[in-house]
Amino acid sequence: MDSENKKSMPTGEKKEVIFQGISGAPGICIGKAYMVGREGVDVIPQYTISQDQKTREITRFKTAVRTAKNELLEIIEATPEALKEHIQILETHLVLFKDKMLYGRTLEAIERENVNAEWALKNVVAEVRAMFQDIEDPYLQGRSTDIVHVSDRIMRNLVGAKEESISSISKRVILVASDISPAQTSQIQLEWVMGFVTDHGGTASHTSIIARTLGIPCVLGLGDATSSLHNDDIIIVDGIAGRVIVHPEDNTLLLYEEKKRRFEEHRASISRSSHLPAISADGMEFQVLGNIELAEEVVSVRDHGGNGIGLLRTEFLYLSRNNFPGETELFEQYREVLELMAPAPVTFRTLDINGDKAISYTLTPEEANPALGLRAIRFCLKKKEVFKTQLRAILRAAAYGNAQIMFPMISCLEEVREARKLLRACAKELAGEEKRHNPEIPVGIMIEVPSAVVMADVLAREVDFFSIGTNDLVQYLLAIDRGNPQVAHLYNSLNPAVLRMLKRIVDEADKAGISVAMCGEMAGDPFHLPVLMGLGIRELSMNPQSIPAIKDMIRNMEGHECRLFTESLLEKSQTQEVMDAISLKYGKFMQTDFV
Ligand code: PEP
Ligand code: MG
Repeated sequence: MDSENKKSMPTGEKKEVIFQGISGAPGICIGKAYMVGREGVDVIPQYTISQDQKTREITRFKTAVRTAKNELLEIIEATPEALKEHIQILETHLVLFKDKMLYGRTLEAIERENVNAEWALKNVVAEVRAMFQDIEDPYLQGRSTDIVHVSDRIMRNLVGAKEESISSISKRVILVASDISPAQTSQIQLEWVMGFVTDHGGTASHTSIIARTLGIPCVLGLGDATSSLHNDDIIIVDGIAGRVIVHPEDNTLLLYEEKKRRFEEHRASISRSSHLPAISADGMEFQVLGNIELAEEVVSVRDHGGNGIGLLRTEFLYLSRNNFPGETELFEQYREVLELMAPAPVTFRTLDINGDKAISYTLTPEEANPALGLRAIRFCLKKKEVFKTQLRAILRAAAYGNAQIMFPMISCLEEVREARKLLRACAKELAGEEKRHNPEIPVGIMIEVPSAVVMADVLAREVDFFSIGTNDLVQYLLAIDRGNPQVAHLYNSLNPAVLRMLKRIVDEADKAGISVAMCGEMAGDPFHLPVLMGLGIRELSMNPQSIPAIKDMIRNMEGHECRLFTESLLEKSQTQEVMDAISLKYGKFMQTDFV
């Protein structure tokens, strides 16, 4: 660690030392250090092998890889529910066990250099590290860290060392480690682990993503902090400022107890004030709504202060079963959601299956490019009976609350007209059958295909509202598969091309006098909020947990100022410039003043 990063003050036997690192997850904790070692990994035997020992050495390596892989599979199995969404990180590690760069090259090195498996692996990892050393791209840096974590696990098995089990810790501690792998992080028991600090890693590392999900403070990138720490040392982790204080003096302890109290109070107050309206400091009113998949989630939207449901992903009722649900079943579910939410609005997004949400009983042929295939409205317009069953159920339920309907993945005018024609036909049928229903339900479309943006002026004349689905819009606009981790680093909603698209959508909606909402992930990210406020998007729908913080930020910002700021952003030509400008001007709204 850089000596400038630490400051010492004399007091009694042990001196207070401050280490400056990188903030991984916000929050403050104070407690005893628990050193997480990597016993055995640093002591690597080296010996040359004869020609006939090669087969034995290769088998030893393959066995170590297999055992390491099985260990990881067990960890994945045992990962708690709260972290399931991060399992893909560990699954990436599973693939790396057979990665050519690691697996293939180690086998080659044993063959070519006549060395034992440990030594061959060590050299291959050193080469990989050297290759990545000068690359600044955080994604590629992350990949190199993944390779190191995977090779450590193989190495432990080769030398017969045990990995320290974090899951067996049973006292309140703060973990201190040179590095903690995502697999280890996922074993953290919140009951015992208050926070953690590591020498390696950065904000975008998988370890810090998991820490943020767990909601525990962490500081990364400390250089060599672990070398000067010992078990049971008292430490303070300031995850907001990215600082670790070892052997704090009494005054420092008092100061941080107070900061900790204020931080926790702030978190609690955001959640307490979540039921207040989202009106900006200069008086602009916003609607902050929830995205849900099942009726059970309505409560979560209400509890988090949501002004309604901006996206009900109706396809989830079609998953995990063997046949299409019938009209009565759908009607009852929809009616329940509407009644629970009334008088607040509920926007029913019609069936969006196939693409990444395939269901077995649709009996549609396998597609080479499902995201570009018979998905969403395309599927519904082909399977008209399935579609009509859903439309009838929505029209009937709409008589019991404040319902809206919207069609997903619209790419041209013909689709809107055909869908609306079917909706009218369903209303006519229901009237003929004298079934209670609401034929006046507002009808909107999701804007998530670039052609719909280009044709926004034409489409706006045909519907009552637009709802922007940025998850797909970014995918289709930038040609980046939204579920592919290999290109995840390129997926950015602040790409200037995305901003220009958003501007066009809002302008065309305004000209036609219809409302425009956003229900993609972009809507729930505080970093994007100044842009969305500036563009004049007054309805934001997101996962329910994000609602309190977004409402709080809206109340602290000025819509008029965001508008001027966003005009300047639209002049930018690179994503990084957009991000830097937001950090500079609005970074303060995204942090708390506890440092
Ligand atoms: C979107 O594409 O942004 C969206 C909200 O829909 P989904 O994520 O369900 O595709
Ligand atoms: Mg979508």
